[in-house]
Amino acid sequence: MMVAIAGAGAMGCRFGAALFEAGHDVVLYDGWNEHVDAINSGGLKVTHERGTRVARVPATQFPVRAPADLVIIFGKAGQTAEIAAGSEDPFGRGCMVLTLQNGLGNIEILTEHVPPERLLAGTTTLGTELLGPGHIRALGSGETVLGPLAEGREREAAGVREVLAGAGLAVRACPDPLTAIWAKVAFNCVMNSLCAIASIPVSALALYDGFDALATSVLDEVAAVAAADGVTVDTGGALAVMRAQFAPSASGDHLASTLQDLMKGRRTEVAHLNGAIASRAAARGIPAPVNTLITQLIGLLEATWPRRVNSLHPDTR
Ligand code: NAD
Repeated sequence: MMVAIAGAGAMGCRFGAALFEAGHDVVLYDGWNEHVDAINSGGLKVTHERGTRVARVPATQFPVRAPADLVIIFGKAGQTAEIAAGSEDPFGRGCMVLTLQNGLGNIEILTEHVPPERLLAGTTTLGTELLGPGHIRALGSGETVLGPLAEGREREAAGVREVLAGAGLAVRACPDPLTAIWAKVAFNCVMNSLCAIASIPVSALALYDGFDALATSVLDEVAAVAAADGVTVDTGGALAVMRAQFAPSASGDHLASTLQDLMKGRRTEVAHLNGAIASRAAARGIPAPVNTLITQLIGLLEATWPRRVNSLHPDTR
Protein backbone atom coordinates (compact mmCIF):
# COMPACT_ATOMS: atom_id res chain seq x y z
CA MET A 1 0.00 0.00 0.00
CA MET A 2 1.23 3.55 -0.76
CA VAL A 3 1.22 5.55 2.49
CA ALA A 4 2.01 9.26 2.89
CA ILE A 5 2.73 10.44 6.42
CA ALA A 6 1.77 14.12 6.42
CA GLY A 7 3.54 15.66 9.40
CA ALA A 8 6.44 13.38 10.33
CA GLY A 9 7.33 14.46 13.86
CA ALA A 10 7.65 11.90 16.64
CA MET A 11 4.38 10.05 15.95
CA GLY A 12 4.45 10.33 12.16
CA CYS A 13 7.93 8.81 12.16
CA ARG A 14 6.86 6.02 14.54
CA PHE A 15 3.90 4.98 12.39
CA GLY A 16 5.86 5.57 9.18
CA ALA A 17 8.77 3.38 10.33
CA ALA A 18 6.43 0.56 11.40
CA LEU A 19 4.54 0.61 8.07
CA PHE A 20 7.77 0.85 6.04
CA GLU A 21 9.30 -2.10 7.89
CA ALA A 22 6.09 -4.08 7.23
CA GLY A 23 6.76 -3.64 3.48
CA HIS A 24 4.54 -0.69 2.60
CA ASP A 25 5.59 2.04 0.19
CA VAL A 26 5.89 4.88 2.73
CA VAL A 27 7.03 8.50 2.32
CA LEU A 28 7.43 10.84 5.31
CA TYR A 29 6.45 14.46 4.52
CA ASP A 30 7.54 17.20 6.90
CA GLY A 31 8.32 20.90 6.97
CA TRP A 32 11.49 20.72 9.10
CA ASN A 33 14.35 20.68 6.54
CA GLU A 34 17.07 19.46 8.91
CA HIS A 35 14.90 16.51 9.98
CA VAL A 36 14.07 15.54 6.39
CA ASP A 37 17.74 15.80 5.36
CA ALA A 38 18.89 13.73 8.36
CA ILE A 39 16.38 10.95 7.53
CA ASN A 40 17.45 10.85 3.87
CA SER A 41 21.18 10.86 4.61
CA GLY A 42 21.41 8.56 7.66
CA GLY A 43 18.00 6.86 7.80
CA LEU A 44 15.37 7.30 10.52
CA LYS A 45 16.84 6.21 13.87
CA VAL A 46 14.31 4.55 16.17
CA THR A 47 15.53 4.09 19.74
CA HIS A 48 13.57 1.61 21.85
CA GLU A 49 14.07 -0.48 25.00
CA ARG A 50 16.44 -2.91 23.28
CA GLY A 51 18.59 -0.44 21.33
CA THR A 52 18.41 1.65 18.16
CA ARG A 53 17.44 0.49 14.69
CA VAL A 54 17.60 2.45 11.44
CA ALA A 55 14.68 2.56 8.99
CA ARG A 56 15.68 3.69 5.48
CA VAL A 57 12.28 5.26 4.85
CA PRO A 58 12.34 8.19 2.40
CA ALA A 59 11.41 11.70 3.56
CA THR A 60 10.35 14.75 1.54
CA GLN A 61 9.42 18.37 2.15
CA PHE A 62 5.79 19.41 1.94
CA PRO A 63 3.63 19.58 -0.14
CA VAL A 64 2.59 15.96 -0.71
CA ARG A 65 2.83 15.57 -4.49
CA ALA A 66 2.40 11.86 -5.09
CA PRO A 67 -0.46 9.40 -5.17
CA ALA A 68 -1.20 7.54 -1.94
CA ASP A 69 -3.79 4.97 -0.88
CA LEU A 70 -3.65 6.29 2.67
CA VAL A 71 -2.56 9.66 4.07
CA ILE A 72 -1.95 9.74 7.82
CA ILE A 73 -2.07 13.26 9.26
CA PHE A 74 0.29 13.57 12.20
CA GLY A 75 1.40 17.16 12.82
CA LYS A 76 0.38 19.08 15.93
CA ALA A 77 -3.22 20.30 15.87
CA GLY A 78 -2.02 23.85 15.10
CA GLN A 79 -0.41 22.53 11.87
CA THR A 80 -3.47 20.70 10.51
CA ALA A 81 -4.66 23.53 8.24
CA GLU A 82 -1.22 23.83 6.61
CA ILE A 83 -0.83 20.05 6.29
CA ALA A 84 -4.30 19.66 4.78
CA ALA A 85 -3.63 22.42 2.25
CA GLY A 86 -0.32 20.72 1.40
CA SER A 87 -1.96 17.34 0.81
CA GLU A 88 -4.52 18.38 -1.83
CA ASP A 89 -2.82 16.24 -4.49
CA PRO A 90 -3.43 12.78 -2.91
CA PHE A 91 -6.73 14.00 -1.38
CA GLY A 92 -7.92 14.83 -4.92
CA ARG A 93 -7.02 11.33 -6.15
CA GLY A 94 -9.40 9.58 -3.76
CA CYS A 95 -7.13 8.31 -0.97
CA MET A 96 -8.31 7.41 2.53
CA VAL A 97 -7.22 9.90 5.21
CA LEU A 98 -6.61 9.11 8.88
CA THR A 99 -6.05 11.54 11.76
CA LEU A 100 -4.93 10.28 15.16
CA GLN A 101 -3.98 13.75 16.42
CA ASN A 102 -4.95 15.09 19.81
CA GLY A 103 -7.35 17.98 20.32
CA LEU A 104 -10.51 19.44 18.82
CA GLY A 105 -10.76 21.08 15.40
CA ASN A 106 -8.67 18.65 13.29
CA ILE A 107 -11.71 16.92 11.84
CA GLU A 108 -13.47 20.20 11.02
CA ILE A 109 -10.38 21.40 9.12
CA LEU A 110 -9.88 18.11 7.28
CA THR A 111 -13.52 17.92 6.17
CA GLU A 112 -12.94 21.18 4.27
CA HIS A 113 -10.50 19.18 2.09
CA VAL A 114 -11.71 15.55 2.21
CA PRO A 115 -15.28 14.21 2.09
CA PRO A 116 -16.25 12.55 5.41
CA GLU A 117 -16.68 9.20 3.59
CA ARG A 118 -12.90 9.09 3.10
CA LEU A 119 -11.96 10.37 6.54
CA LEU A 120 -11.11 8.11 9.49
CA ALA A 121 -10.28 9.42 12.94
CA GLY A 122 -9.23 8.17 16.32
CA THR A 123 -6.68 8.35 19.09
CA THR A 124 -3.45 6.71 20.10
CA THR A 125 -1.79 6.28 23.47
CA LEU A 126 1.55 5.22 21.97
CA GLY A 127 4.20 7.52 23.44
CA THR A 128 7.00 8.78 21.19
CA GLU A 129 9.64 11.50 21.55
CA LEU A 130 11.51 13.35 18.83
CA LEU A 131 15.09 13.31 20.17
CA GLY A 132 16.54 15.38 17.33
CA PRO A 133 16.58 15.54 13.52
CA GLY A 134 16.03 12.02 12.14
CA HIS A 135 15.87 10.36 15.57
CA ILE A 136 12.86 9.24 17.65
CA ARG A 137 12.44 7.31 20.89
CA ALA A 138 9.55 4.80 20.91
CA LEU A 139 8.16 4.60 24.44
CA GLY A 140 6.46 1.45 25.75
CA SER A 141 3.20 0.16 24.39
CA GLY A 142 -0.10 1.87 23.73
CA GLU A 143 -3.34 1.37 21.92
CA THR A 144 -4.66 3.03 18.79
CA VAL A 145 -8.40 3.30 18.21
CA LEU A 146 -9.90 4.35 14.88
CA GLY A 147 -13.24 4.50 13.14
CA PRO A 148 -15.17 6.09 10.27
CA LEU A 149 -16.75 9.55 10.38
CA ALA A 150 -19.44 8.67 7.87
CA GLU A 151 -22.00 5.89 8.12
CA GLY A 152 -21.37 2.74 6.10
CA ARG A 153 -17.57 3.08 5.98
CA GLU A 154 -16.80 0.39 8.56
CA ARG A 155 -15.16 -1.79 5.87
CA GLU A 156 -12.65 0.97 5.02
CA ALA A 157 -11.89 1.50 8.71
CA ALA A 158 -11.38 -2.24 9.18
CA GLY A 159 -9.02 -2.27 6.17
CA VAL A 160 -6.84 0.50 7.62
CA ARG A 161 -6.94 -1.19 11.04
CA GLU A 162 -5.61 -4.37 9.42
CA VAL A 163 -2.79 -2.49 7.70
CA LEU A 164 -1.68 -0.90 10.99
CA ALA A 165 -2.09 -4.16 12.93
CA GLY A 166 -0.02 -5.93 10.25
CA ALA A 167 2.76 -3.43 11.04
CA GLY A 168 2.80 -4.60 14.66
CA LEU A 169 0.71 -1.76 16.10
CA ALA A 170 -2.02 -2.52 18.67
CA VAL A 171 -5.11 -1.16 16.93
CA ARG A 172 -8.83 -1.48 17.59
CA ALA A 173 -11.62 -0.38 15.26
CA CYS A 174 -14.43 1.52 17.00
CA PRO A 175 -17.83 2.54 15.64
CA ASP A 176 -17.78 5.98 17.28
CA PRO A 177 -14.38 7.69 17.03
CA LEU A 178 -15.78 11.03 18.23
CA THR A 179 -16.47 9.61 21.69
CA ALA A 180 -12.88 8.29 21.83
CA ILE A 181 -11.50 11.66 20.68
CA TRP A 182 -13.52 13.59 23.29
CA ALA A 183 -12.42 11.16 26.03
CA LYS A 184 -8.78 11.84 25.08
CA VAL A 185 -9.47 15.60 24.96
CA ALA A 186 -10.90 15.39 28.50
CA PHE A 187 -7.83 13.46 29.65
CA ASN A 188 -5.43 15.95 28.04
CA CYS A 189 -7.33 19.03 29.29
CA VAL A 190 -6.51 17.79 32.80
CA MET A 191 -3.16 16.05 32.43
CA ASN A 192 -1.34 18.24 29.90
CA SER A 193 -2.42 21.57 31.31
CA LEU A 194 -2.15 20.92 35.05
CA CYS A 195 1.27 19.24 34.73
CA ALA A 196 2.48 22.17 32.61
CA ILE A 197 1.17 24.84 34.99
CA ALA A 198 2.64 23.07 38.03
CA SER A 199 5.77 22.02 36.06
CA ILE A 200 5.61 18.44 37.36
CA PRO A 201 5.73 14.91 35.91
CA VAL A 202 2.35 13.17 35.65
CA SER A 203 3.10 10.92 38.62
CA ALA A 204 3.26 13.99 40.91
CA LEU A 205 -0.26 14.99 39.86
CA ALA A 206 -1.68 11.68 41.13
CA LEU A 207 -0.03 12.19 44.53
CA TYR A 208 -1.64 15.60 45.07
CA ASP A 209 -4.49 15.43 47.63
CA GLY A 210 -6.63 17.94 45.76
CA PHE A 211 -6.34 16.09 42.42
CA ASP A 212 -9.93 14.78 42.23
CA ALA A 213 -11.50 18.20 42.91
CA LEU A 214 -9.20 19.99 40.47
CA ALA A 215 -9.67 17.40 37.73
CA THR A 216 -13.45 17.35 38.22
CA SER A 217 -13.69 21.13 37.82
CA VAL A 218 -12.01 20.79 34.40
CA LEU A 219 -13.89 17.64 33.35
CA ASP A 220 -17.38 18.93 34.19
CA GLU A 221 -16.94 21.82 31.75
CA VAL A 222 -15.53 19.49 29.05
CA ALA A 223 -18.52 17.17 29.49
CA ALA A 224 -20.99 20.07 29.23
CA VAL A 225 -19.45 21.28 25.94
CA ALA A 226 -19.27 17.72 24.57
CA ALA A 227 -22.93 17.18 25.45
CA ALA A 228 -23.84 20.26 23.39
CA ASP A 229 -22.12 18.47 20.46
CA GLY A 230 -24.10 15.31 21.19
CA VAL A 231 -21.13 13.42 22.70
CA THR A 232 -21.09 11.90 26.19
CA VAL A 233 -17.92 12.27 28.24
CA ASP A 234 -17.89 9.84 31.16
CA THR A 235 -16.24 12.05 33.81
CA GLY A 236 -16.19 9.31 36.47
CA GLY A 237 -14.58 6.91 34.01
CA ALA A 238 -12.06 9.60 32.97
CA LEU A 239 -11.06 10.15 36.61
CA ALA A 240 -10.59 6.40 37.13
CA VAL A 241 -8.38 6.15 34.01
CA MET A 242 -6.31 9.10 35.21
CA ARG A 243 -5.83 7.68 38.71
CA ALA A 244 -4.59 4.42 37.15
CA GLN A 245 -2.36 6.00 34.49
CA PHE A 246 -0.88 8.72 36.71
CA ALA A 247 0.05 6.26 39.47
CA PRO A 248 3.82 6.60 39.98
CA SER A 249 4.30 2.89 39.18
CA ALA A 250 2.53 3.35 35.82
CA SER A 251 3.79 6.73 34.63
CA GLY A 252 7.20 7.20 36.22
CA ASP A 253 8.71 10.56 35.34
CA HIS A 254 6.75 11.05 32.11
CA LEU A 255 6.44 14.73 31.15
CA ALA A 256 3.20 15.85 29.51
CA SER A 257 3.60 17.09 25.93
CA THR A 258 2.43 20.62 26.86
CA LEU A 259 5.24 20.85 29.42
CA GLN A 260 7.73 19.42 26.89
CA ASP A 261 6.59 21.99 24.30
CA LEU A 262 7.10 24.84 26.82
CA MET A 263 10.57 23.52 27.74
CA LYS A 264 11.50 23.43 24.01
CA GLY A 265 10.08 26.92 23.37
CA ARG A 266 7.43 25.48 21.01
CA ARG A 267 3.74 26.38 20.75
CA THR A 268 1.53 24.07 22.81
CA GLU A 269 -1.75 22.49 21.63
CA VAL A 270 -3.74 24.34 24.35
CA ALA A 271 -5.85 26.19 21.75
CA HIS A 272 -7.19 22.76 20.68
CA LEU A 273 -7.67 21.48 24.23
CA ASN A 274 -8.79 23.80 27.08
CA GLY A 275 -8.86 26.72 24.60
CA ALA A 276 -11.27 24.86 22.32
CA ILE A 277 -13.48 24.04 25.33
CA ALA A 278 -13.47 27.72 26.36
CA SER A 279 -14.32 29.03 22.90
CA ARG A 280 -16.96 26.38 22.14
CA ALA A 281 -18.51 27.02 25.58
CA ALA A 282 -18.60 30.77 24.90
CA ALA A 283 -20.27 30.18 21.52
CA ARG A 284 -22.99 28.05 23.16
CA GLY A 285 -23.49 30.18 26.29
CA ILE A 286 -22.07 27.46 28.57
CA PRO A 287 -19.98 28.71 31.52
CA ALA A 288 -16.37 27.44 31.39
CA PRO A 289 -14.32 29.66 33.73
CA VAL A 290 -11.87 26.90 34.69
CA ASN A 291 -10.85 26.00 31.13
CA THR A 292 -10.78 29.68 30.19
CA LEU A 293 -8.37 30.47 33.03
CA ILE A 294 -6.22 27.42 32.25
CA THR A 295 -5.96 28.56 28.61
CA GLN A 296 -4.86 32.02 29.75
CA LEU A 297 -2.30 30.56 32.16
CA ILE A 298 -0.77 28.33 29.48
CA GLY A 299 -0.68 31.39 27.19
CA LEU A 300 1.19 33.26 29.95
CA LEU A 301 3.66 30.37 30.27
CA GLU A 302 4.20 30.27 26.48
CA ALA A 303 4.98 34.00 26.52
CA THR A 304 7.21 34.05 29.61
CA TRP A 305 8.76 30.57 30.02
CA PRO A 306 12.42 31.62 29.61
CA ARG A 307 11.97 34.25 32.38
CA ARG A 308 10.33 31.93 34.92
CA VAL A 309 11.88 31.54 38.36
CA ASN A 310 12.46 27.89 39.19
CA SER A 311 14.15 25.87 41.86
CA LEU A 312 17.48 26.26 40.08
CA HIS A 313 17.31 30.05 40.07
CA PRO A 314 20.06 31.56 42.29
CA ASP A 315 17.55 33.90 44.03
CA THR A 316 15.37 31.02 45.20
CA ARG A 317 17.92 28.54 46.50
P1 NAD B 1 6.04 16.59 17.17
O1 NAD B 1 6.20 17.81 18.03
O2 NAD B 1 7.05 15.50 17.33
O3 NAD B 1 6.11 17.07 15.65
C1 NAD B 1 5.17 17.99 15.16
C2 NAD B 1 5.84 18.83 14.07
O4 NAD B 1 6.79 19.71 14.67
C3 NAD B 1 6.58 18.01 13.02
O5 NAD B 1 6.35 18.62 11.78
C4 NAD B 1 8.03 18.18 13.43
O6 NAD B 1 8.94 18.06 12.39
C5 NAD B 1 8.03 19.59 13.99
N1 NAD B 1 9.13 19.79 14.93
C6 NAD B 1 9.36 19.11 16.09
N2 NAD B 1 10.48 19.57 16.66
C7 NAD B 1 10.98 20.54 15.87
C8 NAD B 1 12.12 21.41 15.93
N3 NAD B 1 12.99 21.35 16.94
N4 NAD B 1 12.30 22.29 14.94
C9 NAD B 1 11.44 22.37 13.89
N5 NAD B 1 10.33 21.58 13.77
C10 NAD B 1 10.10 20.69 14.75
O7 NAD B 1 4.55 16.07 17.33
P2 NAD B 1 4.05 14.61 17.74
O8 NAD B 1 4.47 14.35 19.13
O9 NAD B 1 4.39 13.65 16.66
O10 NAD B 1 2.47 14.83 17.78
C11 NAD B 1 1.63 14.78 16.62
C12 NAD B 1 0.19 14.64 17.08
O11 NAD B 1 0.04 13.39 17.77
C13 NAD B 1 -0.22 15.72 18.10
O12 NAD B 1 -1.58 16.04 17.93
C14 NAD B 1 -0.01 15.03 19.44
O13 NAD B 1 -0.78 15.60 20.48
C15 NAD B 1 -0.45 13.61 19.09
N6 NAD B 1 0.08 12.57 19.96
C16 NAD B 1 1.41 12.55 20.29
C17 NAD B 1 1.89 11.53 21.11
C18 NAD B 1 3.35 11.42 21.48
O14 NAD B 1 3.70 10.62 22.35
N7 NAD B 1 4.25 12.14 20.84
C19 NAD B 1 1.00 10.55 21.58
C20 NAD B 1 -0.33 10.59 21.20
C21 NAD B 1 -0.78 11.61 20.39
